[in-house]
Amino acid sequence: MRLCKGGQRVAVIEAHDKVGGGCTHWGTIPSKALRHSIQMLADYRRNPLFQHTLDQVDVEFPDLLKAADAVIEAQVRTRYRYYQRNRVEVLFGHARFIDDHHIQVPRSDGVAEVLGAEHFVIATGSRPYHPPDVDFNHPRVLDSDSVLRLGHTPRSITIYGAGVIGCEYASVFTSLDVKVNLVDTRDRLLSFLDDEITDALSYHLRQQGVVIRHDETYGAVEASNDGVVLHCQSGKKFKTDLLLWANGRSGNTANLGLEEIGLTPNRRGQLDVNASYQTSLPHIYAVGDVAGPPALASASYDQGRFVGAHIAEGECDWSLIEAFPTGIYTVPEISSVGRTERELTAAQIPYEVAHANFRTLARAQITGHTVGMLKILFHRETLAILGIHCFGEQASEIVHIGQAIMSQTGEANTIRYFVNTTFNYPTMAEAYRVAALNGLNRLF
Ligand SMILES: Cc1cc2nc3c(=O)[nH]c(=O)nc-3n(C[C@H](O)[C@H](O)[C@H](O)COP(=O)(O)OP(=O)(O)OC[C@H]3O[C@@H](n4cnc5c(N)ncnc54)[C@H](O)[C@@H]3O)c2cc1C
Repeated sequence: MRLCKGGQRVAVIEAHDKVGGGCTHWGTIPSKALRHSIQMLADYRRNPLFQHTLDQVDVEFPDLLKAADAVIEAQVRTRYRYYQRNRVEVLFGHARFIDDHHIQVPRSDGVAEVLGAEHFVIATGSRPYHPPDVDFNHPRVLDSDSVLRLGHTPRSITIYGAGVIGCEYASVFTSLDVKVNLVDTRDRLLSFLDDEITDALSYHLRQQGVVIRHDETYGAVEASNDGVVLHCQSGKKFKTDLLLWANGRSGNTANLGLEEIGLTPNRRGQLDVNASYQTSLPHIYAVGDVAGPPALASASYDQGRFVGAHIAEGECDWSLIEAFPTGIYTVPEISSVGRTERELTAAQIPYEVAHANFRTLARAQITGHTVGMLKILFHRETLAILGIHCFGEQASEIVHIGQAIMSQTGEANTIRYFVNTTFNYPTMAEAYRVAALNGLNRLF
């Protein structure tokens, strides 16, 4: 759409039978719709008003999954409409390069259509990584795609890989009273986040009953009729109804004809790109998951817009791809933007910490979501905001308020904004005022 607005003629080629991408059909949207339904169920179960109706409610995992269907349909409709309105031609079929200015797309009647273009943007996404010695055809061995087709609520599950997807599914299953083992290959959960936030995540997951094991490496997976055993190299064994493999993703670069144009994906199947998302062939770009981290829908959209501007006008807004927040939909939800305490300490930047605990906020007390905290890191001297880290209800929304101030230039980026501005009351946004007062009071 950005390219069309820039006066280019554009075609989108999609291998699936509907538009929307993995994000809509088997990634972000179904997992977040599932998580929302489970949260609604948890809120209902906790609400004293409905205690007398609880034994009439019998909700199974597939019922909760169904909630995603309507959202997926709505997203697909919206996207078709956008493409139509912007005169983007959409063709269905698996695209393959035949040379560096032509791709081939097999049509449903078997005839291959050849399309030529001056520029190409590869946005083929990623899929769960499958180690060759694990049998993903066994019904007890799942990945993040096949878990969306699970037809029953298991009694127990082992999740191997405690990255974002592993932690999110640990929250989903423990909320359904499923026994969960979360087996992490590293020494702490989500180590790219601020330590205080990941400590809180570990604490709350354990409080909810999740067994977390760190520094484990799988040795073998043994699936049978009565369960699946994950054998770790440490000698530990985890036997559960199901195994969810959530350890790594590979870029979708197979059968793309890359060998015809001299592009070689890295060992994760991703394409290496420069700062402008160009591959080693400057007229062929790669964006989104196929170009590697951060592998977020949010960042992928903006990389696409960035590249659209780069091709159409040769100029782009670099800020679009430089700073992006992270939203992690565990229970509690997590979100952050900017630098962590560890990074600021290593860079010897004099910072101070501003905290607000959700349990003190009237809005959190009203909704019953009192678990959570907002933490703002700011420069001791300039008072500029350097990082915002939040966990708890609505964390991924709350973070944007601070992000808006942090992205201002010069003196406009100041923590004082939050004490000099009146916020609606009662709101979760009030956490900013509480935190700012807390932080400013620490200065001497
Ligand atoms: C379980 C899960 C939860 C997630 N949750 C979040 C979240 O909460 N927030 C967030 O920001 N991100 C989330 N993500 C990540 C997000 O889904 C991806 O970062 C995003 O979808 C990447 O977009 P993309 O356009 O690169 O690829 P995709 O969305 O995967 O789309 C790629 C498209 O290319 C098509 N394709 C592939 N090969 C070809 C070919 N040869 N020819 C034609 N078409 C082809 C595919 O059919 C697909 O439709 C999640 C991912 C997963 C798996």
